[in-house]
Amino acid sequence: MPNCTIKMDKDKKIALVAHDNKKRDLLEWAKFNRDLLAHHDVYATGTTGALLEKELGFPIKKLQSGPLGGDQQIGAKIVENEIDFLIFFWDPLEPQPHDPDVKALLRMAVVWNIPMACDRATADFIISSPLMDSTYERQVPDYEAIRRRKLNI
Ligand code: PGA
Repeated sequence: MPNCTIKMDKDKKIALVAHDNKKRDLLEWAKFNRDLLAHHDVYATGTTGALLEKELGFPIKKLQSGPLGGDQQIGAKIVENEIDFLIFFWDPLEPQPHDPDVKALLRMAVVWNIPMACDRATADFIISSPLMDSTYERQVPDYEAIRRRKLNI
């Protein structure tokens, strides 16, 4: 399958999301990494974003709350290349009313090959990567060529 590349800038567009039982974890992680996060564009689902803004003291672009469509908004932004990095502390021990949206968001992150951390250890490794402070060309399948082939044009 042919690939094409999508450029990620030095300053990344990062989405942060945490389910209720994981919010404390995410807040601690974000506080510890505050200065590293501050020069990126930070997006978050509604409640996570409000808590982060209070904790970090810089503006967060807040979307809808997760169960009200916030996860889907982030997924759509990944598709539109408006988010290029996802930290999503989802809760593996409790069912969520919006589980289908969660699954869809995780799927979009893989479809578009964006870096994604679903636990704190992975988030630590990602945030300390030298790639955080440089441009990066991520490879994605050339979906346009695949579409053209399907349409036979
Ligand atoms: P919240 O949504 O930040 O509004 O709590 C997170 C989620 O449940 O996906």
